[in-house]
Amino acid sequence: MEKNVRIISALRKMHDNPVCELNYSSPFELLVAVILSAQCTDKRVNLITPALFEAFSCAKDIANLNADELIPYIKSCGFYNNKAKSIISASKALVERFNGKVPATIEELTTLDGVGRKTANVIYSVAFGGNAIAVDTHVFRVSRRIGIAKTNTADSVERELQQFFPEAVWSEAHHLLIHHGRYICMARKPVCSECLLNKECEYYSRKENE
Ligand code: SF4
Repeated sequence: MEKNVRIISALRKMHDNPVCELNYSSPFELLVAVILSAQCTDKRVNLITPALFEAFSCAKDIANLNADELIPYIKSCGFYNNKAKSIISASKALVERFNGKVPATIEELTTLDGVGRKTANVIYSVAFGGNAIAVDTHVFRVSRRIGIAKTNTADSVERELQQFFPEAVWSEAHHLLIHHGRYICMARKPVCSECLLNKECEYYSRKENE
């Protein structure tokens, strides 16, 4: 069995059908939730978005707000000044350039304020079913620990993972690696004894030989 197949199979055994943990009911809500999730947990974002989306559910609702009108809804998720600016500015761009709709390509998504490559990949894959590997902190850490990525930036790790996994499983691999980073291969204390990847993992092998 090829290494990429062994790794994806082991991840599947450990994480049953992982999906995006942010709550949303439209591409626009997902876009806002992903912007809010920077440096914040999905759990916290899910606590504040029901009231936010009840008040403002589309780009038009937000495009003409002042930051002061939005901040009370998002304050508890940190970096709220920048996040409010990004959400308002992205909403304006959606209204002005995309007829109020979230565009479905990575190239167009990355033209929006507050939407970098990682966020664009998440929206493209989760909202539109595209094949993409968004590299967040978990994907970055886990793939470098295992040894399937060796480089030092999110963009280059994304390219390495795209080469390692077949395109058909990019989005699944993204979710599996995130879940693995959240629940088994945590930043401070990975639970290597329970990890089915420990025979493949360069970090584990280094630790064993220390
Ligand atoms: S063996 Fe340990 S370090 Fe390697 S992927 Fe599993 S949990 Fe992470």
